[in-house]
Amino acid sequence: RPVLDLEAIRAQFPILTAKLDERPLIYLDSAASTQQPECVIEAVADYHRGHHANIHRGAYRLSRTATRLYEEARERVARFLNAAEPVECLFTRGTTESINLVAASWGRATLQPGDEILVSTLEHHSNLVPWQMVAESRGVRLRAIPIDDAGELDLDAYRRLLSPRTRLVAVNQVSNALGTINPVAEIIAEAHAAGVLVLIDGAQWVAHGPTDVQALDADFYAFSGHKLYGPTGIGVLYGKRRLLESMPPYQGGGDMIERVTFERTTYAGLPNRFEAGTPHISGAVGLAAAIDWVESIGLTAIAAHERALLRQATERLAAIPGLRIKGTARHKSSIISWVMEDPPIATLDIGTALDLRGICIRTGHHCCQPLMDRLGVTATARASFGVYNRPDEVEALAEALSEIRDEALRRMVRAQSEEIDS
Ligand code: PMP
Repeated sequence: RPVLDLEAIRAQFPILTAKLDERPLIYLDSAASTQQPECVIEAVADYHRGHHANIHRGAYRLSRTATRLYEEARERVARFLNAAEPVECLFTRGTTESINLVAASWGRATLQPGDEILVSTLEHHSNLVPWQMVAESRGVRLRAIPIDDAGELDLDAYRRLLSPRTRLVAVNQVSNALGTINPVAEIIAEAHAAGVLVLIDGAQWVAHGPTDVQALDADFYAFSGHKLYGPTGIGVLYGKRRLLESMPPYQGGGDMIERVTFERTTYAGLPNRFEAGTPHISGAVGLAAAIDWVESIGLTAIAAHERALLRQATERLAAIPGLRIKGTARHKSSIISWVMEDPPIATLDIGTALDLRGICIRTGHHCCQPLMDRLGVTATARASFGVYNRPDEVEALAEALSEIRDEALRRMVRAQSEEIDS
């Protein structure tokens, strides 16, 4: 029995009903950005058509409406994450800015020379470089939890790395390069037992399963709208109230102050203190619409559908000779990464050949160069599935990959015979 009405879902995505070079688009790059359903596109357009004004300019009703829509979006995010209060949910540009906010604000206020920050080998550069930057300026050491060959975190090593010097553990809930689902509840519990705070990069999780920041007891939680069927340029940083209240502002400017004189400034309370300048109001409205949409389908049903697609993709790709799947963790999200070893085909060539067949995948290092080094590759090809993907699209990917391999083999044989002839 199908867990969701796939054709009804697909019909809501204008880009999936359009054609690329006369072919239907096969979009297998939802881990980079999901496509947006009509109701999200419409919510943003409706805001622009009828309600747009700068927020917090209370003299006129239009601005009050825009402010209300923006704050209702914050309430929607808080319910989605099960945050205790909306003010614990800050709007940012995305996961990258959320992590930079914590690194710059909490990091600068708290870190002392000799302290340690623990990340993992699976991190996206956005959960690595901001820590490196603050570590360098504060004399702090960055350490990485190792992984095994399947792409799973080594939890024994994690326990050994947690020390009285550790101030923060910053890990992702799902690896964008391999799809590994990390045991974040366990990671948080262990860190808290050692008195250490935890930031979870939820960029690759929130669209694939329910999130409850209070049940997890996460101290900080970051995600992006554009991986959750919402707009780009909007994201969220959740932080526990007492932590956010203890942190200095990240950026200075309008809307984040209480009183400014040339001598000194006092800052506004939460959440304004961390939202300097005019925010992405329509983005927040679009994100709230995306959350409504995702929850109307149901994250449990979405997860079951994507699990089936991943199982099919894993079976079909594993059966292609010479193709090696990278990342074979027991718990995986709907991401599959691979390399073509025999004959060797550059991942960019795989991506280009698939694009000619109307199939969009991601190739490269996935902003995870330390992970690529650990895997002994420079790049992988990656397909990732969303709620709208169909089994026949997975089939088309597998067939195209077999064809690409056959063509490469024929080219090799031809080149060899030409060499013998000459
Ligand atoms: N972390 C992970 C695990 C990601 O997959 C991504 C996006 N690829 C990011 C962080 C950064 O997100 P954004 O580009 O939306 O800031």
